[in-house]
Formats: sequence, C-alpha cells, structure tokens
Amino acid sequence: MGGIAMSDPLLSVSGLHAGPSGREILRGLDLEIRPGEVHALMGPNGSGKSTLTHVLAGRPDYEVTAGSVRFHGDDLLALPPWERARRGLFVAFQYPVAVPGVAFREFLSEAAAGRGLPPTSVSEEPLLEAAERLRLTAVLDRPVNVDLSGGERKRNETLQLLLLGADLAVLDEIDSGLDVDGIRDVAAEVTRMVGDDGLSVLVITHFVRILGHIPPTHTHVLIDGRIVESGGPELAHRLEEVGYEDFRETRGGVADVLDL
Ligand code: ADP
Ligand code: MG
Repeated sequence: MGGIAMSDPLLSVSGLHAGPSGREILRGLDLEIRPGEVHALMGPNGSGKSTLTHVLAGRPDYEVTAGSVRFHGDDLLALPPWERARRGLFVAFQYPVAVPGVAFREFLSEAAAGRGLPPTSVSEEPLLEAAERLRLTAVLDRPVNVDLSGGERKRNETLQLLLLGADLAVLDEIDSGLDVDGIRDVAAEVTRMVGDDGLSVLVITHFVRILGHIPPTHTHVLIDGRIVESGGPELAHRLEEVGYEDFRETRGGVADVLDL
C-alpha cells in the first residue's frame, strides 16, 4: 500500500535461497508479479515449486538463507502467516490438510475475521452461491477437508479464495486431483476473479491443460530451484512439446549437474 504506483510489482522475489531447514532447494529465485497478471510456474517434480509455496505462506520449518520477498512493497518474510493473508496473499497448498473437529463454516468465519472481513462475506447466502458454482454443497457440513476426495479438496480451496478474496492467489497444483469438469469449474472462477477484481495469480503446475482455461500472461520454467527461462503463454505450449530436459541443458548442463 504505502502509496506505490499501479505498475509497481505486487510480489517481488529476489535472489531467494530457501528450503526445509538445513536443505537449500531454491537457489537464487527471482520473480515479479504485477497487479492483474497471471504467471504460470512450471517445472519437473522436485524442482522446488512447493518449496516456494511454503516459503510464501510462511511455514515455520522452512528457512530463508538469502534474498528477499516483498509484497505490496513490504518485507513479506518479516510477517507472520496470518498477517500475510490479511494483506491479501492467498495460498492453496498442493496437499490441503484435513482439520478434524473443525466445522467448515466455523473455519471460514475465523478466516474471514482474521482478514478483517465482515461476517456477511461468509454468511449463508454467499457461501451457498459460491458452493453451488463449484458444485461443492455436499461438503459444507463436514469438518474441513475430512474424508474429501482430492478433487473436492481443490474445489474447497477455490471456494475459500472466492469468499475471502485476495490480491495474489498462489495455486500450487490446484489441477492435480481434479477431473476435467473440476479443472474447468475452478479455472472459470479464478479467471472471473482476474477479470472482475484484478486478482493476480501464480499458477503452479506441470501440466499445460489448466493454462488453456486460465491463460497466463507470463510463463516461467523452474529447474533445480532457479527460473531458467521466462516467456509468454507460448512457452507453456513449447514445454508440453519438448519437456523439461531441453531446459536443463540450456542451463549449463554438466557444470550444474556436478554443482561446480
Ligand atoms: P516440487 O513441488 O517442484 O515437486 P518440492 O518443492 O516439493 O518440489 O521439493 C523440492 C525438493 O525438496 C524435493 O527433492 C523434495 O524431496 C525436497 N523436500 C521437500 N520437503 C522436504 C522436507 N520437509 N524435508 C526434506 N526435503 C524436502
Ligand atoms: Mg509440489
């Protein structure tokens, strides 16, 4: 906030080195996202995509050893997780956890209050309307994510985004576990928020399919904890054709493999 201009980055990650305590997975990651932009972050298994998600969310067992992350111009890493959410960062994890004993409605009310939203933002009417759009009404009366299928958990994450709103949504493999209809439903809601609310999105995926429904303005390829190539939407389609191996090679091949 602090009077920054619209064209300033919403999120600015610079020279980030981080990982689960004692293990460096991200090794110099740079990324800038401006308001209303949709960035696709693609990379093979183990390249560090979810590590970035966890560091952005503020998971306490992850350590940042170098670099910075600014959000709305402020030092994101200095803020506790709830404060990050309150300032407009929404994170959907690759593996949403179940919270036995906590009713979904109660959880939503707490989340809304934590973000400083009025209780009406999660009252019955908007909740049912959003749940119907996501075909999720059956799960509203269960404890958070308990006994939900993988796809239902992903719809559930999207439902929270819809109701709570955000400036930036980080969606870590929101497409995994979703069937074709699910991908379409979730993508339609996210795309609508981009158009209507100027939501910025970081879509983390290794499949190009969801990008057909949430068209990215930017695409990045993450290999071994660094972005090795960035481009527009066409880069995602090139990846689908050539795979990730070619990108490993453009990065210096042997020297990198041997960690020289
Ligand atoms: P991606 O999401 O791109 O598949 P991750 O960020 O989940 O990759 O993982 C990157 C690497 O970090 C992997 O080799 C993974 O095994 C490792 N890793 C992830 N979490 C932990 C952890 N808690 N402790 C140790 N290693 C981990
Ligand atoms: Mg992952």
